[in-house]
Amino acid sequence: MEAGAAVWVRDKQEAWVAGTVLERSAAGKPCTVKIEVEEDVSEEPLTFTISEDDGCELEDLKLANEEDMDHVEDLIALPHLHEAAILHSLCRRFDRGDIYTFTANAILLAVNPFKRLPIYGKDLLTQYFDVGCMREQGIEPPQALGPHVFAIADSAYRDMMKGIHAGKSAGMGPVNQSILISGESGAGKTESTKFVMRYLTTVGNGEGGVELEKGSIMDRVLQSNPILEAFGNARTIRNDNSSRFGKFIELMFDKRGNLLGAGIETYLLEKVRIPSQAHDERNFHIFYQMCKGGDDEERERWELQGPEEYHFVNQGDCYDLRQVEDEDEFVQTKAALTTMGFEASSIQTIFDIMAGLIHLGELEFEASEEDDAAVLFHEEDNEDCLARVCRLCYLPEDGLLRALTSKTIEVGPRKEKTTIKLTDHQAYDARDALAKAFYGQLFNWLVATINSHINCDRKEVKASVGVLDIFGFECFEHNSFEQLCINYTNETLQQQFNQFVFKMEQKEYSKEGIEWSFVEFPDNQDCLDLIEGKKKGLLTMLDDECRLGIRGTDANYFSRLYREHGEAERFEADSAMRTKLCFAIKHYAGQVRYNVHTFCDKNKDELPNESDVLFASSTNEFVVNLFSPTGGKKARSKGKRPISPGQSSTSTNTSKKDSPGFAGLKPTVGTQFRGQLHDLMDMIRDTRPHYIRCIKPNDNAEPDEVSRVRVMEQLRYGGVLEAVRVARSGYPVRLPHKDFYVRYRCLISLNKKVKKSRYPLRLKGGTAMAQKMCKDLVKHVLSPAMVSMKNIPADTMQFGKNKVFLRKNAYDFLEMIRSRR
Ligand code: ATP
Ligand code: MG
Repeated sequence: MEAGAAVWVRDKQEAWVAGTVLERSAAGKPCTVKIEVEEDVSEEPLTFTISEDDGCELEDLKLANEEDMDHVEDLIALPHLHEAAILHSLCRRFDRGDIYTFTANAILLAVNPFKRLPIYGKDLLTQYFDVGCMREQGIEPPQALGPHVFAIADSAYRDMMKGIHAGKSAGMGPVNQSILISGESGAGKTESTKFVMRYLTTVGNGEGGVELEKGSIMDRVLQSNPILEAFGNARTIRNDNSSRFGKFIELMFDKRGNLLGAGIETYLLEKVRIPSQAHDERNFHIFYQMCKGGDDEERERWELQGPEEYHFVNQGDCYDLRQVEDEDEFVQTKAALTTMGFEASSIQTIFDIMAGLIHLGELEFEASEEDDAAVLFHEEDNEDCLARVCRLCYLPEDGLLRALTSKTIEVGPRKEKTTIKLTDHQAYDARDALAKAFYGQLFNWLVATINSHINCDRKEVKASVGVLDIFGFECFEHNSFEQLCINYTNETLQQQFNQFVFKMEQKEYSKEGIEWSFVEFPDNQDCLDLIEGKKKGLLTMLDDECRLGIRGTDANYFSRLYREHGEAERFEADSAMRTKLCFAIKHYAGQVRYNVHTFCDKNKDELPNESDVLFASSTNEFVVNLFSPTGGKKARSKGKRPISPGQSSTSTNTSKKDSPGFAGLKPTVGTQFRGQLHDLMDMIRDTRPHYIRCIKPNDNAEPDEVSRVRVMEQLRYGGVLEAVRVARSGYPVRLPHKDFYVRYRCLISLNKKVKKSRYPLRLKGGTAMAQKMCKDLVKHVLSPAMVSMKNIPADTMQFGKNKVFLRKNAYDFLEMIRSRR
C-alpha cells in the first residue's frame, strides 16, 4: 500500500468509503497509513496500523481497483476482489441500469430494480437463445450480451442438451440441471423464477416458437404461478407479493429439448397467517380477491362483505396492494384454475371452503356459567355464523361445535378414552388450529392437483431443469422455529454450494494441469450436525420433547439443549440469554439468536383431536378425502394424481404405516421438513447447479435507491462473500499467458543481469510459446525478486496449459512493484 494508492475504508453508514493513502512509513516494520476520506476532505485523516502479518490489506482498509474496472461483467475479473470492491462494482453497475452481474464464475447477482426495465421482451429472449446457439457451434456472436437471468436459463438449458446428446458414457457430468435462487424477502426471487420459467417454456416449445398456445403444457406450467401466488402469497411489510412458502419446480424435457411437463414441490407454508396477521400485513391474497372481486351471485353464495368486516382478514388493517387490484387478480386466478384444468365443481368447492374459513374466524366463545367450559357466544349472529361455516365447509354443525369445545384424552393405566370440555381460550385455539389445518390441506391438494395436470409420461423424459425459489437467510430481532427451519435450509444450500465450487475448482485445476494444494475450505457441516444430527441435533431433541405429550415443555427443551450443546463451537447461550430461553447459532452468514418459546407447539402443529371424526363426517367427499389418513400423504407426493371431489374415499386406501393421519402419531413439522430438505438435496446433488442471488437495494421498494449497508449484508447472507473466499483460497488470480507476459514484462529491470532483448515487447507464436516466455520471465526475474524482497515462495505461481495461476500474495506483490515504477 503505497502513498497515493486508492483505497476503501470501512464505514458504519456507507459500508465502505473511498480514500487515498497519504503516507506510509518504512516497509517491514509496523507502519502507519494515513488516509483521507474523499467526501469530507476537511476531516482529519484517519490512521491505520498495518503490521507485517496483515500483508498489504487490513480488515477495515482495502486496496481499490482502478476505475476502468468499475463495470466488469464478472466480478472474478477484479484484481482486488474483496467486499468493498464487490459492493462498489455492483453499485456502479446498478446506477447504469445493469442489474445483473456474474461473480466467481458460479453465481448471477440480480439487484432488484423496483421498476419495469425493457429487458425481458421476446426479442431479447430470442437473442439470448441465438447467441447461445452460436457459442455452442463455436461461432463468435456478432454482439455480446451481458449477464442476465436469461443467460443463466440458457446455459442451464444448453448444459442439459449437451448432456442429452453426449449420452451417459461421455462423463460430461450430470444431465439434469438446477437453478437455485435465493435472497431475502422482496429481493426478486419469484420474479426471477418466472423469467427463468418463461425462458425455458419458450425455448422448450419446439417448433411452436415464442407464441404459447392457450392450454398447452407450456401455458399450463406457467399458469401454476398465478394459482400458487393467489393461495400462497400475501402482502407483508417487506413485500406486497411475498411468497409464504418455498417452491421447487422441475421442468421436464424430451430428447429434443421440448418441454413435456413439470412437477412442483412446496415447503413450509406459513399457515399461522390464516388466524393472525401483523399490522400492515394481509392474509393470503385469495381472501381479498374473493371479498372484493366476487360477482353478486358469488358473494351471495359466500355471504361475504368487504374484508374489513372479518377477523381473519382484517387484523393487519391493510386491504389493498400498492400496484395491483385484487378484482383483476381474481379474474386471473379463476382463469388460471380453468386453464389448468380444474373442474368447475372443484373450483366452486375450493372457494366455498375459503369463504367458510373467513366466517370460521367470526365464531366467538364464552365461558359457561356453571363450569367455565366454552360455549358458543350466545347471540343470534354467532349461531347463524356456525350454520354458515358448516354450509360452506360441508361440515355438520354438532360435529364442528364438538371439535371446537371438547377434546378426547386417554386416562388411567388402561388408557380409557374420555371427553373433557375446553375452556373458552382453548376453544379459540382449537378454532385457529382448525382453520390452519384446513387451509394447509387445501393448499397441498391444490399443489397435487396442479401436478396432476402438468405431469407427463416419465418414460419420455430425458432430462430436467429444476428451479428453486426459496426463502433466504433470516435474522430478525425475534427469531423462532420458522427462522430455524429457514436458516437450516440456507445452511444446507450453502454447504452444497461450497462443495460444488470446490469441485469446480478441482476440475479447472486438473484441466490446466495445476497441482492441487488447497489449504482451507469453508465447511459448515458442524453447524448442520448441530441442527439435524440424528441423535442429539436440535430437531431430534425437539421431537423427543414433543413426544412427552403435555409433560414436554419449551423450558425443558431449552435445558436439555443447553446441557447437550452448551460447549459446542456453533452454539451460544450466556446467562442473560438463558434466563430468556434464548440460544444463538453461529451460522455461516452470522450469529442468529432464537427464542425457544412456542417451539414445541409449532413443531407438533396439532389439530384439535376431535377433528378427524369431524372431517370424516363431512357431507362432501372432497372434504372427507382432504383429511382422510392417506389424503395428506397423497396430497404431498409430487406428480401423482390426487383425490378429486366425487372420487370414492375407499379407493385411496394405501399403506397405514406412513400415513400422516391426524389421529395417530403425525410426523412433526421438523421431521417432515428435514425429510423434504434431504430429498431436495439428493435431487440437487445429481444436477449441475446454477445460482442466482437476488439482492434488495433498499427497504422501501424504491427504484434508483441503494442502501450500501443493506446490500453488503445481503452479500454476506447470500454466501457471496463466502464464495469469493472459496475462489480466493486457492489460486484466485488467473491470467492467460499472453496477458501475464504483457502485464509484467515491464518488471525485467528487477534483474539487472538479464538482457532486455531477451523479452520482446510483443509475443509471437501460440500458447506454448507464450507459456515458455512466462516461465522464463518468472524464473529469472519475478521469482527471485519475490523471494529476496518479501520471502514469498516460488510455488505461489503455477503454469497451467492456458493460464498462469497466482496466489494472492504473489499477485499483490507484483502489482505493488508494478505500481511503484
Ligand atoms: P419473498 O421472499 O417475499 O417471496 P421475493 O424474493 O420472491 O420475495 P419478488 O416477489 O420476486 O420477491 O419481488 C418483489 C417485487 O420486486 C416484485 O413484486 C416486483 O415489484 C419487484 N421486482 C422484482 N424483480 C424485478 C425485476 N426483475 N424487474 C422489476 N421489478 C422487479
Ligand atoms: Mg417470492
